[in-house]
Formats: sequence, C-alpha cells, structure tokens
Amino acid sequence: MLTALAVTACTRQPRLEDECLYGHKATSFTFWSPVAEQMEVCLYPDATSTEHETIALKKDKQNFWHAYINGDQASKYYTVRSYQNGTWSEEAPGIFAKAVSVNGARAAIINMAQTNPEGWTADQRPAMPDMTDIVVYETHMRDFTMSNYSGITNKGKFLALTEEGTTTPEGFASGIDHLKELGITHLQILPMFDYGSIDETTLDKRNYNWGYDPVNYNAPEGGYSTDPYDPTCRIREAKQMIQALHKAGIRVVMDVVYNHTYNVMGCSLGRVVPEYFYRMNEDGTYANGSGCGNETASDHAMMRRFMVESVCYWAKEYHVDGFRFDLMGIHDQETMRQIRAALDEIDPTILTYGEGWAAMAPAYPYEELAMKQWTYKMPRVGAFSDDIRNALIGSPFDHERGFASGNSRCRQAVCFGLTGAINYNDNQFGEGWAGEPMQHVSYITCHDNYCLRDRIDASATTETEDTKHRMNKLAQTGVLVSQGMTFIYGGEELFRTKLGIDNSYQSPDSINIIPWENKKTYHDLYTYYRQMIGIRRAHKGFHLGSAELVNEHVEFIETDNESLIIYRIKDLEGIDSAKSLIVLMNGSAEVAEAEIPAGNYTILAKDAQANAKGMGTMEGNNVTVEPYSALILEEH
Ligand code: CA
Repeated sequence: MLTALAVTACTRQPRLEDECLYGHKATSFTFWSPVAEQMEVCLYPDATSTEHETIALKKDKQNFWHAYINGDQASKYYTVRSYQNGTWSEEAPGIFAKAVSVNGARAAIINMAQTNPEGWTADQRPAMPDMTDIVVYETHMRDFTMSNYSGITNKGKFLALTEEGTTTPEGFASGIDHLKELGITHLQILPMFDYGSIDETTLDKRNYNWGYDPVNYNAPEGGYSTDPYDPTCRIREAKQMIQALHKAGIRVVMDVVYNHTYNVMGCSLGRVVPEYFYRMNEDGTYANGSGCGNETASDHAMMRRFMVESVCYWAKEYHVDGFRFDLMGIHDQETMRQIRAALDEIDPTILTYGEGWAAMAPAYPYEELAMKQWTYKMPRVGAFSDDIRNALIGSPFDHERGFASGNSRCRQAVCFGLTGAINYNDNQFGEGWAGEPMQHVSYITCHDNYCLRDRIDASATTETEDTKHRMNKLAQTGVLVSQGMTFIYGGEELFRTKLGIDNSYQSPDSINIIPWENKKTYHDLYTYYRQMIGIRRAHKGFHLGSAELVNEHVEFIETDNESLIIYRIKDLEGIDSAKSLIVLMNGSAEVAEAEIPAGNYTILAKDAQANAKGMGTMEGNNVTVEPYSALILEEH
C-alpha cells in the first residue's frame, strides 16, 4: 500500500502527459512508478498480433522510467508492464494513452498533428463578453441524434454535431441549428472519453450506455467515431465536432469521471502502479465512494497531477471549454483548486463545476472533500444545486410535489436557489454554500433521475395535461431566472419522456432519444423555453454575478400567499436595460393577486407564455398571476 508515499509534484519532473512522444526520427516513452523493480514497453507492429519487441525502461531518481526508440515508429502500438514482488503486471496502455486501438486495448503511436481537421489552428473558443451569461445544455451523443426524425446522417457519432442545416420532417431546425436557435451557450456532453461498457467491435448491435465507466481518460470514445479501429479517426472527429460547435458560437463542456475507473485491474491506473491511484480501506479492500467498486485518490500527489494534466490536455489539444466533474465530492478540495489554477493559465473562461456529493461515504475526511457544502472554499468551481431542484419539482427520492407543482412548503427553498445559495441577507433562506452565485448550478433535471415530464407525472397524478405543461414551464422558469448558473437537460424543451424510467444508463435508444417530432407537437412548450432563455440572456439582472450585487439588488416582496414568490431585482440603472425586473411565481391552482411597486412595465411572461421582446405593457401596482405560471415584468 502506497498511501503514505511522499511524492513531490515538482515542475522539473517529467509530465505524465509525455508518456509517449512521437517524432519522425525517434519516439520516447516515460512512465511513473515508485514501486516497480523493472518496467518494459511491449511494441507491437499492429493492434492485434501477439508478436512484439520488448524494450526495457530505465528509472531516474524521481521514479520515472524512460526509453527512447530510434526510427519512425508511427502506426505501431504499445503497452507497458511493471515487475514487482516477483511477478509481472498485466500489460496496459499507459495511464496517459492519447490514441488507442479498438476498445482501448493498446495505445497507438501516432503523429498528433495529423489528427487536426482542416482549419483547426484557427479554431477559437466562442467569445464570452459576459462570464455570467451561461446556459448549459446537457446531452448524450446518441440521445441527441439517433431519432429518425432528427434529420441527421451520422447518427450517434461525433460527426452528427458537425452537420449544418438539418431539420425534422416538418422543417423545424434540428441538431446543431436547433441549439443555436434555442440560444444556449454551452453544450455539455455525457462521457466522450474512452469508456468500457460498449463493445466497439459490435456497434451494429443495440448499444447504449451513458459511459460513466472510464478506461482511457485521454482518448475519445471509439463508439462515437466512424472507425473505432483507426486510432486517429476518433481524435480527428472529436475535434471536428468541437470545431463545428465553436463555429456555431457554442462552447463545449466535457463530462469527466476521474472519481473511479470501470474496474481496477482492467485499467491502466490499476495495473501499472497497483493500488496507488485508489483509496484503500484499512482491511486492504478498495474504498467505494463511487458506488462503482472503487474510488480514486485525488489526494495522492500523482493522481492529483494526473487530473490536472488531463483536463489541461483536453483544454489545449481539443479546445474543450469546460469540465463537469462526476461525483466531485470524492475529490479533495485542494485538487479542485489546483485544477482551477492550471486552467486559468490556459483561459480563465474555461468552466469548472460538478456534483458536490458522492454515491457513498468516501475514505477521506469529509471536511477536505469537494462536497457542495464547501463550495465557497473552491472559488470559481460550481456545484449542482439539489436545493433548487428539490424545491421546484420535488426530490428524486420520493414522489412529493415541489413548489412548481403545488407544494407551498418549498417556497423558502426556491428563494434560496433564486439567490444562488449565497449568504443572502444574513442567510435569510438558509445557510449559503456558494461564495458567488455562479457557483450554484441551477437545474431541475439532468441525465440522472426522472426527466421533467416524468417527474411531474409522478407527483401531479390528478392534474390535466394542460396544468402539467404549466408546471413544467414554471419549474424551468425558476431555473432561468435564478442568479446561479443555468443548466438544462437536453430534450426537456421538446417535452421528452423516458416512460417513467429514472435510471436510463443502459436503456435502449427508444427510451433515451430526444423526440424531434415533438418540436411540432409541443411547439408552444419549445417556444416558451426559447423565449425564457432569451429573456435571461437579455437581462443582466438575472445573472448579476456576485454575492455583493445580489445582496444589493435582489429583494423578495412580502405576501401572505404562501404559494406566491415575488422576486424583484431593483435599482438596475447602469446594469440592465430595465430599471427593475419582477418575477412573480404562482405555484398553485388559484389565481394569485399581488401588489408590486407602481411603475411602467413591459410584460415578458404571463399566463404560461413568454416573449423576450415583450407581450404588451402595464401600469400601476396591482397584478394577478394565473395558476401555475410566472408573471415577469420589466420596468422602464
Ligand atoms: Ca470504449
């Protein structure tokens, strides 16, 4: 067990990223292991033959092992193995394999420059004039494109998101054009690194998995390429996708899963340096904070460095614009701060946020972990807000209602989420956990648990379809007017259903696909989402960006109606085109009446309709809010 091993992360050490460096005249190899007595590279002429050359590696004083092979080694494959305690480990592609054979079994030696699509050097992150103007849309490669109604040719592939001008059979924009029309700023893609649960040799068979089972962290998933047998193909096509999204003005967030590996002994982290990269229980078994059989040890110096180098590699080599950390609560806070600092050196606008929880208790002191409660200790790292989620639609662990589906007891918790879970007005609504409001990821649904339509169906069992549509819009309104960072689960705008399945990680495409035909059927709902995104993005008042400004400009007007929230953002001269913004949310089946400050107002949303350009004007200070709907007013 190596948990106490002191490893100094000093800049003079080789980078883990430099594991295999190709040159026309020679290729160098560098691996780290403090416990190996011998290490060697197995060099193969192709991806499958057993015949190979063996190259012994030499250890330096810092426990890095090196070899240098003369000649052009391009298109050969390699694995590494280590000898300790009298046995050789299983072969593995190194922990930083950047190009891999089918199913990630061997690493490939390639010239990375040849993976760049045309125009790649000119590729730039889309401009972000305002760092708080963020609307993230989460999707999975297959969910977004597999439907026959998507109009997309390269279904389920990276190339699907390079296709322009695609439409549904009725002529509504789909694919990348749909994202532009909807007005989102960031696309968060479920795991796109090489994962293990899909057999890349049988892609013609029914094949669906979310992909939270990492094998090679630094190579793209082969199942999303048009040829998983060609190690350069998946890299080039992943870059083509990012390039096309950037051209469309959309930034790309990668879902990263450093908290566990698919299994231990099947993965490089487990094979090359046994036990080191994982947290162990005292009895010698693997700790399991992920609920997937193991948890990695970000607190160990080289695991921390691995994570820092890995995100930086994706940001530089692939131009990735953000990272969503799966079960971030398994990682320690210091690692997240170091990741933030390293990304800041590349580009401070790169996003970092994650799940501030774990599946089970990690084997590390709670107060040091990157749990939601400690978000304020990790500046500019965000955490998903189960607070606003549960408050608006109810918890995923029961079928209770939320504020938007008629539960007035959730009113205070909604207000907490609207302020971005900061210390607002001496913690009026609850103890703040976000140092700044943008660290609060406002959302109601994501790939986990019920999608919104199914969640509302589960609790609002007696309401009409019309009422449930109103609840849906009201719930998403709460997300879109919150001072936190906005996150929407892809397909909610098209009224997706997973037929009541709340964990669709390996359900067939028929459950997971976004139903593009709904763009016509539920065009009213889609329009509401699009307009609400427009309203949010047009008004800085909804994303003031700092705890200080939220405390200065946000107020909640008192009302005796427990089902009504009156959220006002005032004194906006110099900040917003509006003098003030008022959002009245009525979470009940009764019409609500309220008094607001007198003024000249443009109506932005009313009676479950919304329009960023306005829907007429009103004066005075008496308003009514229709059942299960928001009234949003812009004061001139
Ligand atoms: Ca794979």
